[in-house]
Amino acid sequence: MHSTPEISSQTPHQTYFDGGGEMGALTRDYDWSKTVLGPPEQWSQSLLTTIGIMLKSRFPMFLWWGTELIQFYNDAYRPSLGNEGKHPKALGQQGEECWPEIWPVIKPLIDQVLSGGESTWSEDQLIPIYRNNRLEDVYWTFSYSKVNDAPGKPGGVLVICSETTEKVNTMRKIENTISELAESESRLRFMLADAPVAIALFTGRALIIEAANKKVLEVWGKGEEVIGKPLHIAVPELKDQPFFQILDDVFTTGQSFHGNEVKAMLELNHKLEEVYSNFVYQPLKNVNGETTGIVLVANVITEQVIARKKVEQAEEMLRLSIEAANVGTWHMDVDTRKFSPSSRMKELYGFDPEEEVSYDDITNQIPEEYRNKVRLAVEQAIASGESYSIEHPVTGYHDQTSRWVRALGKLYPDTAGHPAHFSGLTLDITEQKQDEMRKNDFIGMVSHELKTPLTSLNGYLQLLIARMKKSEDTFTTGSLEKAHAQVKKMSTMINGFLNISRLESGKIHLDMETFDLDQLIREIIEETKPTLQHHSLTLSPCHPVSIHADREKIGSVISNLLSNAIKYSPKGKKIEVNCQIKGEIAEVSVKDEGMGIKPLALEKLFERFYRVETKHTQNISGFGIGLYLCSEILLHHGGKIWVKSEIGVGSTFYFSLPLAP
Ligand code: ADP
Repeated sequence: MHSTPEISSQTPHQTYFDGGGEMGALTRDYDWSKTVLGPPEQWSQSLLTTIGIMLKSRFPMFLWWGTELIQFYNDAYRPSLGNEGKHPKALGQQGEECWPEIWPVIKPLIDQVLSGGESTWSEDQLIPIYRNNRLEDVYWTFSYSKVNDAPGKPGGVLVICSETTEKVNTMRKIENTISELAESESRLRFMLADAPVAIALFTGRALIIEAANKKVLEVWGKGEEVIGKPLHIAVPELKDQPFFQILDDVFTTGQSFHGNEVKAMLELNHKLEEVYSNFVYQPLKNVNGETTGIVLVANVITEQVIARKKVEQAEEMLRLSIEAANVGTWHMDVDTRKFSPSSRMKELYGFDPEEEVSYDDITNQIPEEYRNKVRLAVEQAIASGESYSIEHPVTGYHDQTSRWVRALGKLYPDTAGHPAHFSGLTLDITEQKQDEMRKNDFIGMVSHELKTPLTSLNGYLQLLIARMKKSEDTFTTGSLEKAHAQVKKMSTMINGFLNISRLESGKIHLDMETFDLDQLIREIIEETKPTLQHHSLTLSPCHPVSIHADREKIGSVISNLLSNAIKYSPKGKKIEVNCQIKGEIAEVSVKDEGMGIKPLALEKLFERFYRVETKHTQNISGFGIGLYLCSEILLHHGGKIWVKSEIGVGSTFYFSLPLAP
């Protein structure tokens, strides 16, 4: 654009402004004669050369020249003068006029450089300038250097700048990133340090412990001093365990290893202890894919595993004992009524072990006379949440074999996750039952055989007593009466055994009649008189009260309670017999002031052959069948028997019977 013919008419010094862009043109056209520098024709070669270099440079440059520090600058510098109106006024202006705001700072620098000091160097200084239509934070690195006018004579100061905004911003970003990284790393460290899982980092094949969090140290039972040591020195007890081999394999293959519920023996409190964990060995690799270290992350589950093992052990023991006892088991979901019997249970009921068997299939094998009783007992136990125990016969489904079983069951109410279910056991008691039956038969037979001679003995004694009534021989009379009392005792006992065997075999027979209960009580008291000498007895009767029952058997109940009251209370004590009518029933009680019965024994008192074992009862004879018989007799009459007793105070036995209609 400057290749016009005019060029040739230019003065030689003006060629220094050529190719200087916009600032070149402005410098050329400026009226320099108004300044102390005078027109360019008068300028020194040094000034012209400097201006020429400056105008052509793409680096931002600025020049102060002469005594008044007159200013020059190039196109690259111009933007840094901003938009405040400094440009173009700054060209040819005195430094002091142009930069009043920063002059006190830069004037000493200028003077220092001019007076022969070193060039200044400022790096990455923030100088906000207006460009791209906004004020930007711009960073500059710049230097002031002296330019001589003639050798040894300073002429001015050249400022060369380079914009470093991008560099500064990049550095800033890197710094921020680094500090963020540091922060997140410290956060991570903090998290790992307190993590509830055990974490450790091993480096190199030697497995140097580079890092280990609190949990892993706690698991190893070691302190922080192990950090920096090889694992085999830090935790020597692992040596004969598989871990080092596994770690070595992870190193070789670069594949992670997951361990599930693995047992490690670790030295804690000076002894080896079992520690169970789920863990992973994760290889760490460098850019070349080579393994350089291994991270261990382990979740310690010792307590859970030990707890589970205990439960498993207990279950195993239970299973073994159930097997050993040859017991059939079953359970039933209370809501769905889904019934699951064990193989043994099916066998007991004559089914094949693999067969599908329902609750109805099972109960159908119970003979009819017991079936409803059993079903009712199960339903009641479910409804009341109590347990039941029942003995009943079974006829095998396939084999038609008769067995006796004892069935026990209990309701387990629903707990979190487990619906309510009913569980039961069934034991084969066939042999026991057969033994009992044989024993009963034997007792029945013996008692029966004894009865005949005893009856005739009784008859002869009565005859003799009647004869001796007239005689003066009191000794013989007394002896005969005593013999008669003993024979009576004996027949009561034998009758008891006979009754038991009849009861057990279901052959008990009731001779029902309507009679006055009061009358019966009086008769029994009368009969017992000979043994009552040492006790005082009072009776509060009902006044005539009619009941319909087996008179003899009810008599034996009263006689039993009376003789017990005498047997189990010391001489001289009071016995009270009481009869009361309560609505539709008659209630009879026999109260003594004897030794009493301990609470634990109370519930067993009416069981067959049960006797309370104390040092008081040791020397009192008996078989433990009296109360059992009483309760069975009352049961067959639709009545009840019960007792209240206090140790050392006395006992009161009660029974009740329905009144005759
Ligand atoms: P026994 O032949 O042993 O008397 P029972 O069936 O009549 O048999 O009584 C069972 C047990 O109950 C007795 O062994 C005794 O320990 C206890 N017993 C019965 N009656 C009394 C009572 N009145 N006072 C204290 N204990 C009694």
